[in-house]
Amino acid sequence: MKNYDFVIVGAGIIGLTIARELAKRGHRSVAVLEKESEVGLHSSGRNSGVLHAGIYYGSDTLKAQVCAAGSKLMQQYAKEYGIPLERNGKVIVATSVESIPQIDVLLERGTKNGIRVEKITEKELTEIEPEAQTKEFALLSPDTAVVDSGGILSALVSELNDLGVKLLKNSEVIAVKERTRTLQLSHGSLGYGYLVNAAGLHADRLAHRMGVGEHYQILPFKGIYKKLRPEKAKQFRGSIYPAPDLRVPFLGVHITPGIHGQTLVGPTAIPAFGRENYGWINGIRIGEGIHMLGILTNMLALNKNGFRRMVREELGRYSNSGFLAATRSLSKSISKNDILPSKKIGLRAQLVRTDTLELVMDFVLETGDSSLHVLNAISPAFTSSFKLAQLIVDKAESVSR
Ligand SMILES: Cc1cc2nc3c(=O)[nH]c(=O)nc-3n(C[C@H](O)[C@H](O)[C@H](O)COP(=O)(O)OP(=O)(O)OC[C@H]3O[C@@H](n4cnc5c(N)ncnc54)[C@H](O)[C@@H]3O)c2cc1C
Repeated sequence: MKNYDFVIVGAGIIGLTIARELAKRGHRSVAVLEKESEVGLHSSGRNSGVLHAGIYYGSDTLKAQVCAAGSKLMQQYAKEYGIPLERNGKVIVATSVESIPQIDVLLERGTKNGIRVEKITEKELTEIEPEAQTKEFALLSPDTAVVDSGGILSALVSELNDLGVKLLKNSEVIAVKERTRTLQLSHGSLGYGYLVNAAGLHADRLAHRMGVGEHYQILPFKGIYKKLRPEKAKQFRGSIYPAPDLRVPFLGVHITPGIHGQTLVGPTAIPAFGRENYGWINGIRIGEGIHMLGILTNMLALNKNGFRRMVREELGRYSNSGFLAATRSLSKSISKNDILPSKKIGLRAQLVRTDTLELVMDFVLETGDSSLHVLNAISPAFTSSFKLAQLIVDKAESVSR
């Protein structure tokens, strides 16, 4: 049986950047296991591609610690490997009178986090982003960028190959024997010295098999995108985001001019009942779906942090008129003919605390005897990944020595 010092489960952005960090630090026995036949089939290949500046997060969070630094590292990487990147900035607008105070809260958070962010008036907003609209004030984030997420993943795969990291595709981890440090895979088995769980939408299941993070459960939230008609898309320079409800971890439907000339609108954050439920019912396992529905029902009944209102609003976006209303709150003249369908759908690996029935806001790193588990790798985990990988490898090295 083949044995590796470090085995990483999941070849999304988190697994790949961790493998790179290990190899760069001189570790020669590193393998990444991926259940799919190619990388990027889940969140890392299905996101908005926005490199967040780091405005939203309280200064005591892991997100604040790694987001801005991660964005800088990814931008350097994109430059080095010639991956398309656009530093086109973003504005955050108040879509209702009630959300005006959020502008000041975000200004304070961003400033505390050392991020460049500026409060601007409605008139200044029109000069910067003529199609955007706000109530009284907005925020300008000049350091927000968009990147070709697929390009980053491909560059990492080829770099890992050069660094001697073994990427094993079609290799699903099915069971773990911790006593012998053995993994049972879809084909054969493998030994590990230290295991890093970066399994995204399945990370809680793997953690639970190893007796870790048992009070957490992933409740997936579906992100449906649409796109703007090309003639309309030309009127937008950078991204437009609404000032979000900071009690929930979702940023709201936004407009994002991407690097391939396509301007995306979305994503929604609609509760899903399967970890890979990209269509209507495919990807739903009945037993698990019923369990998730049970958690959701209890969360709706408790209604912590305005959860009921959030779900109601998001469900409304399943309809074209609900989606249009969310888009129109950001922009002056978008009409229903400007919004075209898109096949892009992502699922967020959102963690819930099963004891308090609350959505978890920050990234979570849990450790076992010879394992580390990356839980709640939700946005901005793509942006943060290169910096988060450094932190994770620091931890893994200190335990595995
Ligand atoms: C709609 C949407 C929009 C987003 N927008 C942004 C954004 O603009 N900016 C940003 O920074 N972040 C964004 N995010 C978040 C970001 O995409 C994710 O945080 C990030 O991609 C998570 O990476 P990951 O490696 O943890 O997960 P994944 O990319 O899901 O990778 C995990 C991998 O593990 C594999 N796997 C699972 N179980 C097993 C197993 N048992 N054995 C072997 N392999 C396994 C899976 O096949 C998968 O390839 C967005 C997310 C979504 C869903």
